[in-house]
Amino acid sequence: MSKTIKVEVPDIGDFRDVEVVEVLVSPGDRIEAEGSLISLESDKATMELPSPAGGIVGELLVSVGDRVSQGDPILTLTVEDAAAAATSAQPEPQALPAGAGSGPSAVSAKAPGSAATQDAEADVVAEVAVLGSGPGGYTAAFRAADLGKRVVLIERYPTIGGVCLNVGCIPSKALLHTAQIINEADAFSSHGISFGKPEIDLSGLGAWKDGVVKKMTGGLAQLAKQRMVTILQGTGRFVSPERIEVETSDGTKVVAFDRAIVAAGSEPARFPIFPWDDSRVMDSTGALELRDVPERLLVVGGGVIGLEMATVYHALGSKVTVVELTDGLIPGCDRDLVRPLLKIVKKRYEKIHTATRVVSVEARPDGLEVRFEGKGAPESETFDRVLVSTGRTPNGLKIGAENAGVKVDERGFIPVDDRMLTNVGHIHAIGDIVGQPMLAHKAAHEGKVAAEVCAGLKSHFDARAIPSVAYTDPEVAWMGMTEEEAKAAGVEYDKGVYPWAASGRSLSLGRNEGMTKLLFGKDRKLIGAGIVGPNAGELIAETVLAMEMDADPEDIALTIHPHPTLSETVCFAAEVVDGTVTDLYAPKKPTG
Ligand code: NAD
Repeated sequence: MSKTIKVEVPDIGDFRDVEVVEVLVSPGDRIEAEGSLISLESDKATMELPSPAGGIVGELLVSVGDRVSQGDPILTLTVEDAAAAATSAQPEPQALPAGAGSGPSAVSAKAPGSAATQDAEADVVAEVAVLGSGPGGYTAAFRAADLGKRVVLIERYPTIGGVCLNVGCIPSKALLHTAQIINEADAFSSHGISFGKPEIDLSGLGAWKDGVVKKMTGGLAQLAKQRMVTILQGTGRFVSPERIEVETSDGTKVVAFDRAIVAAGSEPARFPIFPWDDSRVMDSTGALELRDVPERLLVVGGGVIGLEMATVYHALGSKVTVVELTDGLIPGCDRDLVRPLLKIVKKRYEKIHTATRVVSVEARPDGLEVRFEGKGAPESETFDRVLVSTGRTPNGLKIGAENAGVKVDERGFIPVDDRMLTNVGHIHAIGDIVGQPMLAHKAAHEGKVAAEVCAGLKSHFDARAIPSVAYTDPEVAWMGMTEEEAKAAGVEYDKGVYPWAASGRSLSLGRNEGMTKLLFGKDRKLIGAGIVGPNAGELIAETVLAMEMDADPEDIALTIHPHPTLSETVCFAAEVVDGTVTDLYAPKKPTG
């Protein structure tokens, strides 16, 4: 017995109004059940819609260029075994990597009905389980949900956003802005304007900072809700390659997943020489709590966190000493970029001891007695508080990775490939837990890659440069190859440096210490950049784009930059290499 049915677009997840790019059958064609009927392409995926039954194609109800959503008619089909057609469920569409076209090598996206959703003992089933909700984790979760995946986001703390939003980047930037205003108001006394000494209400400042964090974390929770991402609060650990157990306030919950993304981050390194049970010893989280303004603060570690928090506490009134193990502040950054910062903080801080280590800290009622070892450092000194900012440790050894067969190195890092895949083919890892640099913007970028691979897209991490910024005063920012790295690797380069003392905009801010430096390889392409000065962190972005776009000196020099801005200094540094700069006297003689 035969019957004519109308074949409609099945459930294609969150995709709507998707373009028909190919009609794969013609009227009169005989088609098998599950044979492809039409191809759809969105900016995220290409999918082929299969036939629900075998039969003869009748009238085509769509053509190339039409846009369709779930339920729209595709064609009529005369089905030879009507009973079979009536009982056959609409098969799932086949998701292919965008632009991949049809073919046997196409990657299939896992759909409802796969392993996790059939785990009857699980409390939560997810196509994608994300462990950790920092900038890496929430970005991965949101992107996966936008690609039609059923996502659970597991977070041990009550608010999502991880270290960055709750106890890192965002609250520190709120306090650094305060420090900037205090420093600028102070500097204005020499420009003819006096504001007087600031009156600091620490609880008011803390409440404002907390308000900024709350707005951000509340906004994220809203974004998760809009995307129907399930947030599960509790500490998660793998118990098998397909399951994570989560200790919640409501007991243990089992999450079964098809694919997982580990985004469990890092935490401050805690060396045992510090008496951590004494509340006067702080890590970065404690320092951001602003419990008081200590009269004398010792910052251990002259890296990014130490120098940013030193900026805040100095502006609030502390006498700051910085001790750094290596022979300079911000190791890894070119010395010429650090020098202007050093010159300023040397005047502001009580002492800066480089090439010095802390050998012991004794908690006494009147303060913390710290013993040093290093050239020029005193044997011991007493401080009211000590901030330990000597780096962060990844959380790889704390998530039961061994139960899932995920390889973790002895330091706690999880090795991954450029699809952010671990050694286990359906488990990804991103962010601080996969290695340096431990930066939010790197984690977010990796999160997108992992989510896209989970959805069957052909994505991989191939950024040419990850910018670094110290939000100190002045800011220091760099990206790509540093000059020291270029020298060590024997890479030949041309350097263009523009001193901000020649920038009208910088002088009008009352600042002249800045510098912009660009490095071009022998093929004339940009290979690295460094900027020191107010807003260097904003300015570095242009150079990252230039490097991604393979810019040469002319590309940057012939791009009209607005005047008067600090951004002009990037253009002028390129002009120095190009030999066309007129805002400095550094002409190159015509060669021919
Ligand atoms: P870091 O690695 O940037 O700096 C730690 C510093 O401590 C180094 O200079 C190191 O030489 C020094 N040090 C180590 N042991 C020491 C010892 N015993 N005595 C004295 N000095 C010692 O680490 P961090 O500043 O703690 O930051 C941690 C991570 O967080 C970094 O990966 C950083 O990139 C990231 N972070 C970035 C930003 C930003 O981008 N603005 C802000 C905060 C944190």
